[in-house]
Amino acid sequence: MSDIFSTKKRSDIMSKISGKETKPEILVRKYLFANGLRYRKNVKSLPGSPDIVLPKYKTVIFVNGCFWHGHKGCKRSKLPETNKAFWENKIKATQERDKLKISQLRELNWKVIEIWQCEINSKKLRDKKLGNILFEIKNNILT
Ligand SMILES: [Zn+2]
Repeated sequence: MSDIFSTKKRSDIMSKISGKETKPEILVRKYLFANGLRYRKNVKSLPGSPDIVLPKYKTVIFVNGCFWHGHKGCKRSKLPETNKAFWENKIKATQERDKLKISQLRELNWKVIEIWQCEINSKKLRDKKLGNILFEIKNNILT
């Protein structure tokens, strides 16, 4: 199966998807706020400029697009057949950056939560996933 989009077009689509204020992030923030958690967003002074920072709980949250961050085993992370090597390299580089920022944050004693887009792309999934996260944050049982 070949990609229906040219590389240029695909690149445009993907860059739009990976924008700073992606919708899934906003949904997560709204949920946390509605449940009494206060956060800062895109904190540049921390490794990887975490999407959501909860200073009180010393916890950061990243909301990852499945394609862009290469969610393992997820059908949304399937690479287009055209220019496969290009995407593979690009996504591999993103994964390396993700790994590095997480280890740097943990060294600074931050707890790190990663949420994948596919885990929150329906209301039902979102309520379940975010409910669990909220519980873990409030009960301080994150590792
Ligand atoms: Zn996924």
